[in-house]
Amino acid sequence: MARVVVVGGGIAGTAAAARLAKHRHEVVLLERRDRLGGAVGFLEREGFRWDTGPTATALPAVLRDLFRKSGRPLERELDLVPVQPVREHRFEDGTTLALPSGSRGGQLDAVGEALGPAAGQAWVDHVHSFAGTWDVLRRGYLERPWDHDHQDAAVRDVLSSRTSLHGVVRRRFRTDERLRSLALTHAVLDGHDPRNVPAWVGMLDYVEQNFGTWTVAGGLGALADAMTRRLGERRVDVRLGTTVRDLVVRDGRAVGVDTSAGVVDADVVVVAVDPRGLPALADRVRRTMPAIPPVVSHLGLRGDVPDLPHEVVLHGDPTLVVRTGGSAPEGGAAWTVLGRGRLSEDVLVALARRGVDVREQVVVRVDRSPREQVVAWGGSPYGVLWQGRATVRQRLGTRTPVEGVYAAGAHVAGTSGLPFATLTAAVVAERIGEVPRATPASSTRPR
Ligand SMILES: Cc1cc2nc3c(=O)[nH]c(=O)nc-3n(C[C@H](O)[C@H](O)[C@H](O)COP(=O)(O)OP(=O)(O)OC[C@H]3O[C@@H](n4cnc5c(N)ncnc54)[C@H](O)[C@@H]3O)c2cc1C
Repeated sequence: MARVVVVGGGIAGTAAAARLAKHRHEVVLLERRDRLGGAVGFLEREGFRWDTGPTATALPAVLRDLFRKSGRPLERELDLVPVQPVREHRFEDGTTLALPSGSRGGQLDAVGEALGPAAGQAWVDHVHSFAGTWDVLRRGYLERPWDHDHQDAAVRDVLSSRTSLHGVVRRRFRTDERLRSLALTHAVLDGHDPRNVPAWVGMLDYVEQNFGTWTVAGGLGALADAMTRRLGERRVDVRLGTTVRDLVVRDGRAVGVDTSAGVVDADVVVVAVDPRGLPALADRVRRTMPAIPPVVSHLGLRGDVPDLPHEVVLHGDPTLVVRTGGSAPEGGAAWTVLGRGRLSEDVLVALARRGVDVREQVVVRVDRSPREQVVAWGGSPYGVLWQGRATVRQRLGTRTPVEGVYAAGAHVAGTSGLPFATLTAAVVAERIGEVPRATPASSTRPR
């Protein structure tokens, strides 16, 4: 049995801890805050409740696999429900498109109806062009251990392509700005300049179209509570209020971590936080920059509020996103507004300019600047900023240059979002391996 210390209790750290405990390791999880979940969680004020981070997730199979492999299945813990439509797009020319999730035919019809039949076909062809990319990356990069220097040839071809997402989209949708905005939605909302995002990241649209988007009844923040319960059941030693300052490395190998509460010994360390904050790893990732979170306003509303779907994207500069899934007292609504780009006026004024005027209905408001969020979570849950295709190599992989140290989470994930951060934990657990039942001592063979 190895003593594994997991640094960071976001979804990636908790997922790694649950899996490794199920693999019969002795697991200690160190989290600087007073609760687990990281960006996943709730904020409550005066009877209103909002998700602080993710409100929906692609690839529900990732969460199902996590729960099944670490104890009871997901369905026994959380009520996962499909989000339909995945989001409504409002373009600058006034066109509205409610994009269905989980259906190519549905998207063909919806885009065709909103933007014209040729646009519908162009959109589904564009999305389908990522089918091969998804297949290659899923098998060789997202779900399996890999190393920068020993990569499957097909994966290397995809990752080393010089084409940017912006370039592909501009070429394919020369005459329709709405399609260009649609195809760059994820890149823009995740805080990137699309000119620096590799083309393969367009696979996110393929994933949404094919596997749908899901949320949890009552809010995705419930996932944090479910993970907290799961770690209790797996007897993970969770130490809240404990900040990790650095790794303790002896003869090139990690033997522990230095924390605000003293040194904690370890045979293996899993870093599920921004590695730039740990001096032993910082130099390896010195070329990376974090992708910063958006401006966030949680709104508690009362009275006559427009009936909007789960998520509405108001394209333009700034791009605004309205998420409506929060819980509110009778007769109210709990919205979260995210802002990206040039937000030079109050978010409620900017929203009113785009035709969604709720200024008179606001009874509670909590604003969170990008900086406040990064300080609260000790790093950005959006992971690493795309600065071109080289970013893949500038980030850490799941195995780090320090022996005995693995990395998981948003700063390692192939692309941003909850399922991708969670997948890195599965890969790390696979690398560290199980403790064989019959053999008592350290006979695991990390990969
Ligand atoms: C506003 C917002 C909206 C989002 N919406 C979506 C969405 O709809 N769908 C989606 O898929 N994704 C969304 N995301 C992204 C998603 O939240 C992340 O992909 C995911 O939560 C990253 O998880 P993580 O565990 O890697 O990191 P985090 O959630 O950042 O967790 C890191 C944890 O480590 C702790 N920590 C940091 N440093 C230390 C240290 N030195 N010592 C001890 N502990 C430490 C932090 O306190 C935190 O708990 C959103 C994010 C934000 C901020």
